[in-house]
Amino acid sequence: MCGRTITRLVALGAVCGALLIAPGLSAVAWASPQVYSAPSSVELVEHPGTYDGKTVTFQGEAIGEAMVRGDYAWIHLNDDAYMLKNVEEGAALGGYNTGMPVWIPADEARSIQVFGDYKHEGEIVRVEGTFNAACAQHGGDMDIHATSIEHVAPGRDAKDPVHPNKALLAVVLTLAAGALWWAEGHAGIRERAGLSRRR
Ligand SMILES: [Zn+2]
Repeated sequence: MCGRTITRLVALGAVCGALLIAPGLSAVAWASPQVYSAPSSVELVEHPGTYDGKTVTFQGEAIGEAMVRGDYAWIHLNDDAYMLKNVEEGAALGGYNTGMPVWIPADEARSIQVFGDYKHEGEIVRVEGTFNAACAQHGGDMDIHATSIEHVAPGRDAKDPVHPNKALLAVVLTLAAGALWWAEGHAGIRERAGLSRRR
């Protein structure tokens, strides 16, 4: 009886806790990065004719920087294997960096807070716009002229976890340096002692 009451109290506590936490969670407006849009950059490159002039959604990691050209800007979205985490963080090696250049209103480009580089995982964004297999406006290059942007997942600092082996090596090197310092100190004392004896 008593045990059952405790169980009920614990269950009630858990429900109350969940209700307290839930509004905080729902306040996060990021959509799930697991919802992958089609087509991928590989698909676009391999079958450009299928999508040329069509409206597509394209999702990827914003990398590099926004290059503003008047009212518009170039951004580059990578949708390769390293999009969600880098190799140091355990991403499997999955071929080349692939992505798409996206021509987008500058104001929309400025809404991206973190671009990916060797220190950062860039924001994951989804754009919608027209795919151009050979853009007449941009020297015949392949691009997407985006009209809207959706923020899927925030950018962050790239983790560079300290490997246990590296930590062990650091300890060994520190001890070795300490031992050398100690040995040199004693050698110096002996040397001075020897010199003084010779005098
Ligand atoms: Zn273009």
